[in-house]
Amino acid sequence: CGIVGIIGRKDVAPLLIDGLRRLEYRGYDSAGIATLVNGSIDRRRAEGKIANLDARVREQPIDGTVGIGHTRWATHGRPNEANAHPHASARVAVVHNGIIENFQELKKELQDAGRAFESDTDTEVVVHLIHHHLDQGLPPVEAVQHSLKRLNGAFALGILIAGRHDLLIGARMGSPLAVGYGDGEMFLGSDALALAPLTQRIAYLDEGDMVVLTLEGATFYDADDQPVAREVRQTALSG
Ligand code: GLU
Repeated sequence: CGIVGIIGRKDVAPLLIDGLRRLEYRGYDSAGIATLVNGSIDRRRAEGKIANLDARVREQPIDGTVGIGHTRWATHGRPNEANAHPHASARVAVVHNGIIENFQELKKELQDAGRAFESDTDTEVVVHLIHHHLDQGLPPVEAVQHSLKRLNGAFALGILIAGRHDLLIGARMGSPLAVGYGDGEMFLGSDALALAPLTQRIAYLDEGDMVVLTLEGATFYDADDQPVAREVRQTALSG
């Protein structure tokens, strides 16, 4: 339902939770965040309100300068902690808005290839597809591009890759996603409001786009994997 992502220079968990609070108006049943801690994916998730997630993070703090967060409105799989996003393997963490229509077929294919699933969501196939392509030796950008081509349906995605605290990847097909430009930090959000306290400089992904964020900026790729420019606008929203 709601996505926020940050690649920065300080701990991102408090900012991710603030961003999720600004997305609460959309409605949701659970929430979670994932960051990279010494290169490894760590996450906290909770059923119910952001306050529950916040309490969980206070009990067990989570550091890391790159991260993704999500408010979920369940479409596939009950609203509970195991089905809350981010979904993750040892190598990939994913937040997703929308529906992967062909997830059953992909899930069977991935299970037949030996991958074990932990949730009842459609989203988790995205984790295992990317992981599979990384295991085959593809670099992160190519692994994501190959995986996106297998997905039918509507999605906005935020993706973290273990060992790559210098990268935050986003993709859009039928579900909006915005990139926010900071000063030596970059943001991802399912709407500009989520990013309002962080930046007013926003670029929107076009249909079929993927974006790679680093501390220095954003590289957009179109549906044919070609680098492409997307206009940066000043929004009137303020924090
Ligand atoms: N289809 C996904 C799920 O059920 C994402 C739902 C959403 O957009 O929050 O987990």
